Amino acid sequence: MKILFFSAKPYDKQFFDHYNKPYGFQIEYLETHLGPHIVNAVQDELAVCVFVNDKVNAEVIAVLAEKGVKIIALRCAGFNNVDLEAARAHGIRVCRVPEYSPQAVAEHTVAMILTLNRKTHKAYNRVREQNFSLNGLLGFNLYGKTVGVIGTGKIGAAFCRIMKGFGCKVVAYDLYPSRQLESSGIEYQPLEAVLGHSDIISLHCPLNEDTHYMINEKTLGMMKKGVTLINTSRGGLINTVHVINALKSKHVAHLGIDVYEQEDKLFFKDLSGSIIEDDTIQRLMSFPNVLVTAHQAFFTEEALSEIAQVTLNSIDQLVKNKEPDNKIVILV
Ligand code: NAD
Repeated sequence: MKILFFSAKPYDKQFFDHYNKPYGFQIEYLETHLGPHIVNAVQDELAVCVFVNDKVNAEVIAVLAEKGVKIIALRCAGFNNVDLEAARAHGIRVCRVPEYSPQAVAEHTVAMILTLNRKTHKAYNRVREQNFSLNGLLGFNLYGKTVGVIGTGKIGAAFCRIMKGFGCKVVAYDLYPSRQLESSGIEYQPLEAVLGHSDIISLHCPLNEDTHYMINEKTLGMMKKGVTLINTSRGGLINTVHVINALKSKHVAHLGIDVYEQEDKLFFKDLSGSIIEDDTIQRLMSFPNVLVTAHQAFFTEEALSEIAQVTLNSIDQLVKNKEPDNKIVILV
């Protein structure tokens, strides 16, 4: 039973090889992304295992089906990069890891807020240069601030709870408000109200046709001047050009992004010493009040263990023609 990995990194191999012992799948790890350029390399594989920036569109799926692939296993939660209708049409099953560690992403979101606010990254370098002055390091208390959360699913809910612990007022917008969160003191409001009331706004909804560019010139204009905006969800939620304008006008005081709409050409690669052709990310990184991390919010030992275990179990169950115990891992 062969599984072909795309976008594989040394840490994928480490965790999957460890958890594959009881299953004994034959796993081949490829560093390249899956896309139309490489799909013909697939031979006799039962399953392909893909990540966030692999392009699994209708064209790719048609070739996978021709080559006899039966399973597309996403080792991530989001599935905006897979054409589910095409998979259904070709009878290919698609599974994912719906919840590997919401806390990992929620905690990284908090790390981004604290870094931008208290400037610990600057302090670290400054003190090592024996510069002990505090000029330029002024932050603000999180206690008493209003935090707006867009999308209160697993990650958004974990983030809400942490921010409540800081003594923040947490307001939220979701198509499906959670009674449980409401009873713990989270106040649901319409989107415009959340944008207008919040000192810090954090995005935790999926990327789809409705949410693409939900942060744009118009919605940025609804936010308080001096807002802190954080995106650890998907890059396409933010119109990057519009947010750059809002940073230039100082309407947005801090921006933290772990995801970027053109990240597939950059993230998860060591490009040190290369010429970056993407002027938009270069402009973003030139701001002193912008923090970019390269899609690392999920990157904890706990999350990688869960990803490997759930993915291998789902493939095993599908191979045995069984439905995995956890139904929400199956997309098609
Ligand atoms: P989830 O499905 O549990 O929650 C998503 C929530 O968004 C749901 O409550 C849903 O009702 C809500 N929602 C959907 N459309 C909305 C809209 N138009 N407006 C407001 N809310 C809307 O998902 P999750 O596990 O909490 O993950 C959230 C997102 O985080 C994922 O879609 C994924 O893209 C991203 N993610 C990022 C990383 C990372 O490493 N940076 C890791 C995992 C997940």
